[in-house]
Amino acid sequence: MATDRILVTGAGGFIGHNLVKRLKAEGYWVRGVDIKMPEFEPTVADDFELLDLRKLDNSLLATRGGITHVYNLAADMGGIGYITSSHADISRNNILINAHMLESSRLNGVSRFLFSSSACVYAQYKQLEAEVTPLREEDAYPADPEAGYGWEKLFTEELCRYFWQDYKLETRVVRFHNVYGPLGTYEGGKEKAPAAISRKIALAANHGDIDIWGDGEQTRSFMYIDDCVEGLLRLMASDYREPLNLGTDRLISINGLVDLISGIAGKQLTKRHDLSKPQGVRGRNSDNSRLRSVLGWEPGISLAEGLSVTYRWIEDELRNAGRLAITAAARSAD
Ligand code: NAD
Repeated sequence: MATDRILVTGAGGFIGHNLVKRLKAEGYWVRGVDIKMPEFEPTVADDFELLDLRKLDNSLLATRGGITHVYNLAADMGGIGYITSSHADISRNNILINAHMLESSRLNGVSRFLFSSSACVYAQYKQLEAEVTPLREEDAYPADPEAGYGWEKLFTEELCRYFWQDYKLETRVVRFHNVYGPLGTYEGGKEKAPAAISRKIALAANHGDIDIWGDGEQTRSFMYIDDCVEGLLRLMASDYREPLNLGTDRLISINGLVDLISGIAGKQLTKRHDLSKPQGVRGRNSDNSRLRSVLGWEPGISLAEGLSVTYRWIEDELRNAGRLAITAAARSAD
């Protein structure tokens, strides 16, 4: 109902900012909270507060004033390089944010709380092959998640269950599989593969080289941001309290992703594989059976369509920053 008052934490980040825009378009009153403002355009939230949610006082402030629904997206996270090199910081920061946000939501009478978990909770021993069997929700156990980030997400999933069992706080738990799209970080170490590869391709000269982490045969599935936001709204509105996958089930290798984006960019590039860099699990895909049966829906935007919008956005950002080589055609048009 548009009468709900909604808090989005992590509203300065990629998914949070896009979610705020959708919620405002649906007519909700929205408060955004983050430690930073959105990077690429102003927020449209009714209220935006800079608060460090690792502190209980701040999470109490964030949930004050009759907030009914919380989308808890705030997290210390990044691409594979970042999450494999900062286990202590990521675990500590995120456990504090999530524990405080759950407790504050309970104390302030929030009626629904959505936690953004991740496919990083899935057991690593089930992701050893590039041609991986798609992961069903029960494949998180027996537990062997990604060190740090994955363990923290898995524990917070349990914490959500305990808050429902002990306090009847309605919790929803979404397990995202690789989300990409415009208005996301594309450099600095916290970006993910589609954004990093788009940036590298935009900056590369045609017939030049680009660096790829690992041998490029590792596989993933990728979901466009508009599908992600749609799924979030549907899950929040549902009565489903168990963790649910939210992703596509269309597997592609990193080399395949590079070829697709090179095609969009109209460039022919030579891949230089850097085997010293982390590549994460060998293969990861989403089994969407439960998603389809619970929400009666699944993400439908194709990779070609979503990547085309994303690549153009990153290319425009770099062009506006004066970082793209001026082509002969552009020069002669001046
Ligand atoms: P993001 O990094 O763009 O957004 C997270 C936001 O949280 C950032 O703006 C950051 O400043 C904020 N934040 C960090 N520490 C904070 C603190 N102490 N207090 C307040 N805010 C703080 O990431 P995203 O891609 O938008 O991810 C949103 C959520 O989805 C996260 O929980 C993430 O773990 C999860 N997730 C994302 C993906 C993906 O592919 N993008 C995949 C799996 C899970």
